[in-house]
Formats: sequence, C-alpha cells, structure tokens
Amino acid sequence: MSQPLPLDTHALEHQLDAERAARALAEATLAEHTQELSHANASLKGICDTLSARIGELEEERARVLHIGRTDSLTGLVNRGAFLSGLTEKLAAATRFGMTVGLYVVDLDRFKDINDTLGHEAGDLLLQEVGERLADVARANDIVARLGGDEFAIIAEMNTDGADAIPLAQRILEALLEPVDIMGRSVSPGASIGVALYPNDAGDASDLRRYADLALYRAKAAGRAQFKVFDTALRQEGELRRTLEADLRRAVDNQEIIPWFQPVVDAHTGTVRGVEVLARWNHPDQGLVMPDKFVPIAEELGLIGKIDASIFEQACVIAGPWVGEGLIETLSCNISPRELLDVNFAEHLIERIGANKFPAGALMVEITETFLMQDMDLARRHIERMAEHGVRVALDDFGIGYSNLRALMQLPIDTVKIDRSLTRDIDKDDRVRALVRLLAQTTRALGLSFIAEGVEDEAHAIALRAVGCSSMQGYYFARPMPPEQMSAFLRRADASTPVAMPQLNVA
Ligand code: C2E
Ligand code: CA
Ligand code: CA
Repeated sequence: MSQPLPLDTHALEHQLDAERAARALAEATLAEHTQELSHANASLKGICDTLSARIGELEEERARVLHIGRTDSLTGLVNRGAFLSGLTEKLAAATRFGMTVGLYVVDLDRFKDINDTLGHEAGDLLLQEVGERLADVARANDIVARLGGDEFAIIAEMNTDGADAIPLAQRILEALLEPVDIMGRSVSPGASIGVALYPNDAGDASDLRRYADLALYRAKAAGRAQFKVFDTALRQEGELRRTLEADLRRAVDNQEIIPWFQPVVDAHTGTVRGVEVLARWNHPDQGLVMPDKFVPIAEELGLIGKIDASIFEQACVIAGPWVGEGLIETLSCNISPRELLDVNFAEHLIERIGANKFPAGALMVEITETFLMQDMDLARRHIERMAEHGVRVALDDFGIGYSNLRALMQLPIDTVKIDRSLTRDIDKDDRVRALVRLLAQTTRALGLSFIAEGVEDEAHAIALRAVGCSSMQGYYFARPMPPEQMSAFLRRADASTPVAMPQLNVA
C-alpha cells in the first residue's frame, strides 16, 4: 500500500526556480551560440564569395592564356601548335564518322617583295588582310591557321568523295588575287595552294601535311597563283623522295658521294686557272644523282656538313697533286649556307686543311649571300678567320639575290661569281649586259676577281670578256667530269694552250 507523498510546496518552488534558471541559462547560451554561428556563417559566406570570384577570375585567365597559346597574335587565326592538335582532332572525327578532310596549305607569292619594298608594317597589314579573307572563305567548322611567316592553312570538312576540294581551292585563290590597299598602294597578295585529302591521299596527319606541302611546291614550281591537288604522280615522287632520304643517310658512310671537277679558265688567255669540285651521288640503283636532287634533302636532314667535309677531304687528296705540279692555282669548294651558321665552321675547316696538308692559299671556299644575310657578324668572323689562313672566299650566285655590295666592301672576300642566269642573257639583253658590266667594274674597283659561270657558247664568252670578266666556267670550256678525266684533261699534251675557241686568245 502506498502512502501519498507529503506535499512539500517549498521544495517544489525551489526545484521550479532551479529549472527556470537553467532554462534561462540555456536560452542565453543558445542565443549566444546562434549569434556566433551567424557571425561564422556570415564570414564563411564572405570567404565563399571571395573564393568564387577568384575562381571566376582564374577561369577567365585560363581561357585567355589558352586563347593566346592557341592564337596567332598578328592575325587572330589559330597558330601552328593549335593547328597541329586541331588537325589530329579533325582526322580522328573524320575516321569515326566516315568523313573526308581537306588540308589546304597556302603560301603567299609576293609577300617577300611587299615586305622588302613597303616595309614590315605593310607586310603585317597584308598578313592580317589575308587572314581575314581566308576566314571569310572558310566555313564555320573549318580551322583557319597561320603556320608562320606567310604560310597559312585551312583544315576543311569535305564531301566523302572530296568533290568540293577544287571549288574551295578556287575560292581561296580568287580571294587572294583581289588587290589589297596598303599604305596607299594597291597590291595583290597572290598565293600558291597545295591540297591533300584524308583518307583518300594520306593515312595520317604527318603524311597529309607532307603531301599537301609537296602539292604546294608543285604549284609554286608551275608558276605560282595556282593550286595543285595531290595525285598519284606526286605520291610516287613523295615515295621516291622518302627512299632517297633513307639512302642518303647511308650514302656518305658508303662513300657514294664523290667529287667531280669542272675547270675555271682565264678569260683572257683561255688557260685553266683552277677547278671547282662538284658533288655527285653515285647511287647503287639510280646511277648518278645530281646535287640539286640531294643537296636540299641533305640540308634538311642535317647531313650536308658531313657531305661537304667528305667532298672536301676527297678533293684535297685528288687535287693536292694538281696544285703541287702547278696544273691549277685554285681548288674551289662549295659550302652549304647551313653549315656556315655553325660557330665552329672556320675552326674545323682550318683543322681539316692542316690534316690534309693542303696548301691553304690554293683553296677557295664558295659561299652564297643567303648566309651573309642570316648572320652578318658570324659571317664576318668566319670569313676573316679563313682569310687569316690564306683561304680565299668567293661569293657564289652573285647578282640574283641581294647582291650585297656593302658586304663586298667590308669583308675580305676575294672573288665574285655571277650566276648563270645572268650569263645566259648577256648576249641577248642589253640590260643584263649593263648590269654585269657594272658588277665587273665594281668588283675590279674593289680589287676582287670576277668569275662568270654557265658559259655555254662562244657568244657568252665574248660578251663576258668584253664587259671585263676575269675568269669563266661553263660547258663551253668543259663539263664537270670525274677525277681521272679531269686529271687527264689537265695533263693533256697541249695543256698550255687555251681550252676554248681561238677568238678568246685575242687580246
Ligand atoms: P654552283 O655552285 O652554282 O655550281 C655550278 C653549277 O652549274 C654546277 O651544277 C655545274 O655543273 C653547273 N654548270 C656548270 N657550267 C654550266 C653551263 O655551262 N651550263 C649550265 N646549265 N650549267 C653549268 P651542279 O654540279 O649540278 O651543282 C649544282 C649546285 O649544287 C651547285 O651550284 C652548288 O650550289 C651545289 N653543290 C654542288 N656540289 C656541292 C657540294 O659539294 N656541297 C654543297 N654544299 N653544294 C654543292
Ligand atoms: Ca659554286
Ligand atoms: Ca653558282
């Protein structure tokens, strides 16, 4: 049985007060914490806002940097790097969806002229205008790029049979023939275009570029302001070139690159003064390959230094005795402009002369102006170093390029060789004759020798002698020949008599 608890109101009141106080404390604490939390909340929100603003800025920055990284700053077109990745992406998409992609490489025909005559600012304006026109001609999904210099490209999606390849090429050509007003002058940029299609012509991006480039070279060679679409004939040529490249890498070690010689004769007496060594490639399957076929490839592959050194050494061994016996005064060697950009070139040459015991004073190194223009300071150092050792330097192919007369005055150059394109017209064109006469007078005033090459007939020889040319070289006197034949030629019984027609011997 339970007893009712005694009603202790006093105790109850006391308990109730305690509970109320506890609640008030709890409420105060809650209020306090709520306030803290809302402060914390507010500051967290602030931090969040700052962070998201910063992220926004960073994203914009990234997009801007990416854009700059992908854009050619002058024209606003896609740059070379982005072109390469764009090409890979387009080809991958074309493979997936069974489409055709056309690669158009566009090279301006007259950019250099315009740049040289109107200045860089005009050149830049022209490039910008060309960029705009190409972008206008291209369709929305096409990629229009500037690959560098005055070279542009369009990557275009095509019909599967590539039937629209030619109309686009025509539109590009027309767009670039339209004259542009630049600094008050009306100039037509004019362009050559090479086209190759994926997958019809090439199976990957690198072949596609090679083939479009090959087509471009062909368009340029065909007289500019044209387009050329890659075809089977070009494919064969491309394959031949690839084999040549592979063969050339082995050719030097296999001693297939051999020296031939062509005499240089005195313009007044007609007697042989010297010989120029000209490289020939004795190819195991293709027979004799001429330098214009393999020298450019060797330059591109970085093999020309090895070839020039090998030709030089062979020529020293063969022509050393000719010098020793007084049959010739000079041996001329061609040196690739590419090799002359090597800072150690002159040092190496001097070492090689010593190693081969060749008399330095009998050596003439033929260089072209291209090299002088590329690095005048290095050119000066090389030429001065060679001159200190008694090696003579000839400027080859003079009169067709810059014809830098200042270089003739300032550098210890010994001889100027005028290009055969000038010789060819000397008896037919008064202006050419006047130009060659002027060059001959200038070189004489500077105390230099003046050689004309490409002398093919008597009329050339007579005209050249009349304008004051000191030595001549050409088929009229003798074609380039192998060493044994050259040796026999130099030792022929009548070696002291002139090589050429008697008229030449008349003072
Ligand atoms: P180049 O130095 O201007 O040599 C003269 C070229 O004209 C030679 O062509 C020669 O055979 C040719 N020639 C000579 N007389 C006549 C003529 O009367 N009529 C015509 N139409 N041509 C004539 P080649 O031997 O085919 O050499 C072509 C070029 O290849 C040379 O032009 C030179 O730039 C380069 N080359 C030749 N051998 C070497 C070499 O060992 N090293 C380097 N780096 N380049 C070389
Ligand atoms: Ca030469
Ligand atoms: Ca020449």
